[in-house]
Formats: sequence, structure tokens, C-alpha cells
Amino acid sequence: MSYRQERALAIEAVLAASRLCRTVQANLVSDETMAKKDRSPVTVADFGAQAVVSHHLLRVFPNDPMVGEEDSAELREARNAELRAKVVAHVGTIIPGLDESAVLAAIDHGTYTGGATGRHWTLDPIDGTKGFLRGDQYAVALALIEEGEVVLGVLGCPNLPLDAANPAAGSGCIFVAERGGGAFMRSLDDPTEHPIHVTKIDDPTQASFCESVEKAHSAHSDAARVAELLGIAVPPFRIDSQCKYAAVARGDASIYLRLPTRKGYEEKIWDHAAGVMVIQEAGGRVTDVRGDRLNFSLGRTLRDNLGVIVSNGLLHDRVVAAVREVLGV
Ligand code: AMP
Ligand code: MG
Repeated sequence: MSYRQERALAIEAVLAASRLCRTVQANLVSDETMAKKDRSPVTVADFGAQAVVSHHLLRVFPNDPMVGEEDSAELREARNAELRAKVVAHVGTIIPGLDESAVLAAIDHGTYTGGATGRHWTLDPIDGTKGFLRGDQYAVALALIEEGEVVLGVLGCPNLPLDAANPAAGSGCIFVAERGGGAFMRSLDDPTEHPIHVTKIDDPTQASFCESVEKAHSAHSDAARVAELLGIAVPPFRIDSQCKYAAVARGDASIYLRLPTRKGYEEKIWDHAAGVMVIQEAGGRVTDVRGDRLNFSLGRTLRDNLGVIVSNGLLHDRVVAAVREVLGV
């Protein structure tokens, strides 16, 4: 099964949303954030990017549901009228003529519950909101899930250097992978796609690993013990969002550790689906901390899984063994 049309559309949608995010991040002012119930910052760009991606998908695949991180409930409240107007204005620069009710309806296209049957998209309009607000890395992450399996992933990384070894060479990447079709990187501004591959490192002492900047999202101290057990000599590469999947997929690092920080947290499908497709098609592996495959068929969360381990494949079993030893799982 080929997803040619879906792939092209997903790239177009992520490009459009990335443009919106770039503009907002460049003009970031503090009143464009507000507190969500879970206190994580939500920005104009978060809502705007979800509206833009939804609008693109609805135009071509009106019957495909979507699991998106955002919904419009808070945005509709009277006290958020100013923020709402800004979202509509920003979306209007990308999709002229979309009025407020159309923008809110597009955002609410993301309320699907997910699950094991049929197909649905999943979107994190801005993965790594904290990085976005700091002016650092973030990603627009879009994936297609069919019968509970990820089949297509597109990751827009508007601030990621095109070449990690030469940050002066420009930034803004898109990563694309379709099941069985390999993984590719292109720049935001040039459609030429380049194949990417994980590292060939099979000696953990030569490997480097990445993890979240936010210690609330991944246990830094446990990761340090895992690194010590494996003999990893270099300090962790900390970077927000699914840019970590991209970094391992193109060989900037060989391992990504996302170790649980608290009991009961369920990883969200939109935080992983696109990254998983990219890493698998680049030759890497993903499991949870117990070595189990991630199960995308259970709804909006990966409730059967605990944490996430990503590697170049060659190192995977040894990393999982070290994590299990440290965590006692
Ligand atoms: P990162 O940029 O990799 O730190 O991940 C950002 C994502 O972490 C956000 O999109 C949240 O959905 C997610 N998140 C929030 N709280 C937690 C937590 N306690 N453990 C793991 N991930 C979390
Ligand atoms: Mg996220």
C-alpha cells in the first residue's frame, strides 16, 4: 500500500504549520501564552498550527479523523477573546479567508479518541512547547495510523540545523518516512529529499545519547546511571521535542532515553507516532523501557507502555538491559 497522496499532503500541511510557528516564535511576546489546566504553556502557534494542519487534511480526506493535542474549549471562553483573534489572524496569513468559526472547527477536528480500527491522523501542533517559548527546538509532528499501526510520519523541525556539525549552514528541516519506504530529510525551503540513516556504532562507549531538556519529562538522574553502566563517556545532548527522534535518525546521536519521572504518566501518541516512523525507516529501533513495542492502538495514549527507548538498533538490547537494571523493571 502506497501513501503517495497522504505523504505529499502531510508535507504540505507541516510546511504551512511550520511557517506559522516560525512567524509567531520570531514575534513571541508573553501575552501570547496562557495557562492550560496542566499548566503547560499554550501559544497562539499551538492552536494556529493545529487549525492549519486540520484544514489541509480535511480538504483532501474529510472522512479521516484526527487525534490532536489541542481542542478549542479554552480558546472559546470570553476571557480569551484577544488570544482567539490572534490565532485567527495568524491562520489567516497562511490560509486567507478562514473565519473564526472555521478556525475553531478545524482545531476541534482533533478530538478523535483514536484506537485500533480504521485509519486516523495524529498531530502535535507544537511538540516541545517549552522549547518553543525559550526560542529553542520544537517540532510539528503529524502521523497517519492505520489499524493501530503507524504508517506515515512527518516531522517539521523549524529550528533544527540542517547539519548538526555545521550550525551556521542554516536551519529548518522536515523529516518524512512512510512504512517500507525509507526515511528522508529535506530543508523547509527546498523540496529535495535526502535519505537519512542511523549510526553504525555498536560499542556503547562510543555512543552519545539525547534526552529532554525538561527533567519533569524524563528522569535525568536515571539516564545518567544508565549512561554510566553502558560506559557512555560524553554528556547527554538535551533537546526539546521529537527533534530527538530526528537526531538519532540522521546519526547526530545513537540513543534517545525517555525514562519515566512519575508513576501513572501515560505517553501521548502524538508525542511519538511521527518520530517512531522516522526512526524505524532510518534503520533504528523503538521500545518502551521494558523492551516492549509501543502500542498505538489503544486510543490517545500509550497506556500499556512505560517510557521510551530509541536507538540505532545495534545498541538496543544492551540499552534496554541497562535501563531495566537501573529502574528495576
Ligand atoms: P520533550 O520536549 O521531549 O521534553 O517532550 C515534550 C512533551 O512531553 C510534551 O508534548 C508533553 O506531552 C510531554 N510530557 C508532559 N509531561 C510529561 C511527563 N511527566 N513525562 C513524559 N512526558 C511528558
Ligand atoms: Mg508534545
